[in-house]
Amino acid sequence: MPDGRRRGLARLAGEVHDLLVIGAGSVGAGIALQAAAAGLRVALVDRADFAAGSSSRSTKLIHGGVRYLERAVTRLDRVEYRLVREALAERAAFFRVAPYLARRIAILTPAYRSWDRAYYGAGLVLYDVLSGGASLGRTRHLDAPAALRAFAGLAPAGLRGGVLYYDGQFDDARMNVLLALTAEAKGAAVLNHAGAIRLLHAGGRVAGAVVADAIGGEEVEVRARSVVNAGGPFADEIRRLDDPAAPELLRVSSGAHLVLRDGLCPPGTGLLIPRTPDGRVVFVLPWQRRTLVGTTDRPAGVAPRPEVAEEDIAYLLGVAGRYLAAPIRRTDVLAAWSGLRPLVRDERRPHTSELARTHVVRESPSGLVSVVGGKWTTFRRIAADALAHLARRERWPAAAWAAEVPILGSEGYSAAMVEEVRRRLELPADVAVHLAESYGARMADVGALAAAGHGGMLAPGHPYLEADVVWAARAEMAATVMDVLARRLRLAFLDRDAARACVGRVAEIMAAELGWTRARVAAEAREAESQLATAI
Ligand SMILES: Cc1cc2nc3c(=O)[nH]c(=O)nc-3n(C[C@H](O)[C@H](O)[C@H](O)COP(=O)(O)OP(=O)(O)OC[C@H]3O[C@@H](n4cnc5c(N)ncnc54)[C@H](O)[C@@H]3O)c2cc1C
Repeated sequence: MPDGRRRGLARLAGEVHDLLVIGAGSVGAGIALQAAAAGLRVALVDRADFAAGSSSRSTKLIHGGVRYLERAVTRLDRVEYRLVREALAERAAFFRVAPYLARRIAILTPAYRSWDRAYYGAGLVLYDVLSGGASLGRTRHLDAPAALRAFAGLAPAGLRGGVLYYDGQFDDARMNVLLALTAEAKGAAVLNHAGAIRLLHAGGRVAGAVVADAIGGEEVEVRARSVVNAGGPFADEIRRLDDPAAPELLRVSSGAHLVLRDGLCPPGTGLLIPRTPDGRVVFVLPWQRRTLVGTTDRPAGVAPRPEVAEEDIAYLLGVAGRYLAAPIRRTDVLAAWSGLRPLVRDERRPHTSELARTHVVRESPSGLVSVVGGKWTTFRRIAADALAHLARRERWPAAAWAAEVPILGSEGYSAAMVEEVRRRLELPADVAVHLAESYGARMADVGALAAAGHGGMLAPGHPYLEADVVWAARAEMAATVMDVLARRLRLAFLDRDAARACVGRVAEIMAAELGWTRARVAAEAREAESQLATAI
């Protein structure tokens, strides 16, 4: 077992923690970071990888949610309204804590009926007003020629104009990995591929968990004064480790996304399709030099790697195809994946698309605190609410649970720094952009690895380097080939065939870094190929 994992397990088992967080998606990693930054002794474990669940499968928008605003206004729904306002405030904080992972995106809402432009315009102006001083740019009404100038690939027939507004966009898996790594840098004991398989109780109170290391096969007891269940769609499973009779808290719905070639969207501008046959919205967004289309909403069962139904692929191609001038076909789909929304049950709302995206903090009689629901955008708010709840119970001294904690690589990051590293290391422009957008100020470290013999490119048409793999294994706790291909880099989410073609090379580099045997290399390659052939 590599030394890093051995140290991680020893730390988990070797002390009594103030807080054990089970599940390291956006919710769990966010709680661990905010708690560690406030000085608590924290343990964070995930039975898969950081972001292996829903948190790598989002639409990647840092947003208040224009659809929720529409519901708030048309139904006078105060909960939805508060959610939008809160998320818009969090959007601004997100840019401050993760400046190199977050970027502004312009989104055009096209109108093909004359009154639609006024309707969307009123809503999107309100959206901008609600963001107050944190606006990312003024919403603008565009006539048809201006709409086509903003988004040249839009189907022109019958176009009456559109409304252009601004939101944020990010790389969800990298943000999640960096939240976990930043928590570790603040003192937390953090381990991936380490699942809670039983909960420990003392005097009727939850007091920790037995954690199984999926890589080395060991089991350790992790003791903690408080335990948080941040299992996302799996939260009910964890609640049943505490109480086998616990009623279901969640309803899960799946959301599929497609990735298509680059060039369907102009750089930095996406499309919001405001009305679909099933009353939803669909986004067509430029993302990581490709085009992202999503999403759907259908009730689903819980699965670690949810499959995408052909029906969903056909639906998304159909909806996007009606609005794009260029034809798109099934063969244009480079990758498709699905994420599960952990939504809080509400018997008054039978359809999952109707359930509010709010989060809840629920405590069981044994003291297990489950934190479920919410949006990626509001991860800090969710963490602060969970920690404030625990602080009242545990009488922790007052702390700034909602402090803005910059993620690793934020300090010292600037356009001038990126340019200086690019020149000094003579990096091609696309590689420099990739390194800057993935590592921030730490791009120089990855660039230095490239200069020191790991400069080979991994996949034609993608700016990824062998140095990325070395860095992932050395500095980002990547422990499997898919940790690298899906979550340290995003190749598996962007282009299945390209990812499949470099499985062998990634396995070799990881073997050299982590001391894998030939048998382990073969097993890793088989597992990665199987996931890439079915569902990631
Ligand atoms: C299709 C879709 C699109 C979305 N788009 C957006 C968007 O554009 N913007 C936005 O703000 N939000 C968006 N969201 C919402 C956001 O992605 C989720 O709310 C968020 O990722 C949920 O994170 P989580 O930590 O609760 O769950 P997860 O990310 O699923 O994390 C739960 C973790 O718990 C781990 N786990 C489970 N059981 C155990 C155990 N026994 N021991 C240890 N670990 C365990 C799992 O391995 C997993 O990693 C979207 C969600 C979906 C599904």
